[in-house]
Amino acid sequence: MKELKFIVQESNNTPHHTVTIRKEKNNLSARCTCESGGHDSLCQHRLSILAGKAKWVISDNGADVKRVINWLAWTDVGLAINEVTQAQKQLKAAGKELEAATERLKEAEKAAAEARTKLIEVMND
Ligand SMILES: [Zn+2]
Repeated sequence: MKELKFIVQESNNTPHHTVTIRKEKNNLSARCTCESGGHDSLCQHRLSILAGKAKWVISDNGADVKRVINWLAWTDVGLAINEVTQAQKQLKAAGKELEAATERLKEAEKAAAEARTKLIEVMND
């Protein structure tokens, strides 16, 4: 089993936390001691380190974050991160489609209202 621990802190005014990354064959685990680092939610500390970013690492092993990236390939966590990335791309694309469709809906509503007004006018002529 391989293990790396990073002490992270977002700013001088926030408490520091420990992120522990463990790898055993294709199983990777990433745990954090912060309130959001439990089993039910994702904290930015873990996501940041799993993304290869050492920006919040205050322990002197910040360079080891790059090793985590190499560990990720073909692990359960690496594959799940790829799925999240794909899903987020689809969500973004769907959001753009929705925006465009909402714009077309507004134009169609305006055109329908104008057509009804015109119908009333010609009926009353
Ligand atoms: Zn955390």
